[in-house]
Amino acid sequence: MTKTKVGLAAETRKLAGWGRYPEATGLAVRPEKLSAVRAAVGSDRWSSVLARGLGRSYGDPAFNPEGCTLFTERLDRLISFDPASGWLRAEGGLSFRAILDLFLPRGWFLPVTPGTRHVTLAGALACDVHGKNHHRDGSVGRHVGGLRMLLASGEEVECSAQERPDLFHATVGGMGLTGLVLEAELRLRPIQTAMIRQQVRPAGDLDSLMALLEEHDNRVPYSVAWLDTVAEGRNLGRGVLLLGDHAGIADLPSSQARNPLSRRPGLRATVPFDAPGGLLNPTTIRAFNSTYYNLQKRKAGESLIALDPYFYPLDIVDDWNRMYGRSGFVQYQFVVPTSTARSTLVGVLEACARKGLASFLSVLKRFGPGAGNLSFPFEGYTLTLDFPVAPGLFEFLDDLDWMVLDAGGRLYLAKDARMSPATFRAMYPEFRRWLEVKHQVDPHDRFRSAQSVRLAMHSQEVSSR
Ligand SMILES: Cc1cc2nc3c(=O)[nH]c(=O)nc-3n(C[C@H](O)[C@H](O)[C@H](O)COP(=O)(O)OP(=O)(O)OC[C@H]3O[C@@H](n4cnc5c(N)ncnc54)[C@H](O)[C@@H]3O)c2cc1C
Repeated sequence: MTKTKVGLAAETRKLAGWGRYPEATGLAVRPEKLSAVRAAVGSDRWSSVLARGLGRSYGDPAFNPEGCTLFTERLDRLISFDPASGWLRAEGGLSFRAILDLFLPRGWFLPVTPGTRHVTLAGALACDVHGKNHHRDGSVGRHVGGLRMLLASGEEVECSAQERPDLFHATVGGMGLTGLVLEAELRLRPIQTAMIRQQVRPAGDLDSLMALLEEHDNRVPYSVAWLDTVAEGRNLGRGVLLLGDHAGIADLPSSQARNPLSRRPGLRATVPFDAPGGLLNPTTIRAFNSTYYNLQKRKAGESLIALDPYFYPLDIVDDWNRMYGRSGFVQYQFVVPTSTARSTLVGVLEACARKGLASFLSVLKRFGPGAGNLSFPFEGYTLTLDFPVAPGLFEFLDDLDWMVLDAGGRLYLAKDARMSPATFRAMYPEFRRWLEVKHQVDPHDRFRSAQSVRLAMHSQEVSSR
């Protein structure tokens, strides 16, 4: 570990996203105070910087091997909370887990949450994350008030949908490339209990699953479907729709109603080492898909489920990403408009079957209207597939990219590890607009990531025009 002249301890370390592909080596600092963040962003010791939260994005958006990666999770102070409105102001490194620990017992929940609570406030904003309620409530950016940002120039500015809206909209979903989010305001939502009323609805094929999703669009706040990617023929696209709503006190049995906001810690487990050859290989993934479908089918109907296992089933197993073995895995998530969704989903699932590829976790969801700039969601269907990195995989995913592009769709930057710059530009028509804002606030590309270099998201392009 070396001390830099700004007094920051910088260490050279291995850097990767949650999928552990790709990996790189680079400088990292973990500032404890805002003064150290300012010093790190302004330091001439490295050519560029990037903020990182808890590293739960999958591919290469959260590290900067050619410059310095700033691990920001210690910048996690609560600044203010207004119990009349639910507005919380905090430093960007505060985790969703900490927000839940502090506010759930007081009757407040996150307005939007991804499938893990191990994300930071700023990391979630930078990816404009979506949750099971996107069709109703949009992505997290819609629930954000003001941001305090540290720009490449060293200037600190406030922005919101009203104040410097261009900067705000380029930052929400902007993958950390417009500046560092020091503080953010998020509006929490009131809840009565820590329980969810869940409905499990199996569907024997893709058409019935899509019909169920559309039928519940306006009725239920949370909806997501798990898809069996192994089923073929007339069962192609079969799955299980999981619907949910916050339970009221009247929904609880009397024993629980006395303490409606108490949480039930589920089981915890950990994967202590890299599974040799990957615990998740085509054989185990196939077995899991069929077994899970049949198990869920038996659970069809309504029940009460604790909030944590409903929203964060994967958080039960720490380091579950190690189950894919040393080569890592990629999560392929795309969205396509409703009009082209059915044919694209059939095309993708049939292509996977032909290639003999099955995905361990495959999630189908409806999105509502999008937020613009580099935000991923727009109205339509999104499918998420997990694949272990193996020879031939990337050529196959290139073919899927064409299908998605042809259908008017796009891939999620927070999950991307390998798309080409040309594909990215074709998928994100507002990139040019975003780049103009990036050029205004960061003309020399002080903020860079491995992903931004791979996708050529450079301000320099604007100056050379
Ligand atoms: C199990 C699991 C389930 C998930 N489910 C979902 C889901 O349902 N929906 C969804 O949308 N996503 C989902 N994700 C992805 C994840 O929610 C996002 O990638 C999230 O943004 C990660 O937050 P983080 O704090 O770990 O950020 P990181 O991964 O560390 O960083 C992500 C981006 O945020 C930027 N960033 C971080 N801190 C700052 C800062 N202070 N200022 C400016 N930029 C910053 C980084 O530069 C990077 O570009 C899931 C991930 C996992 C592992």
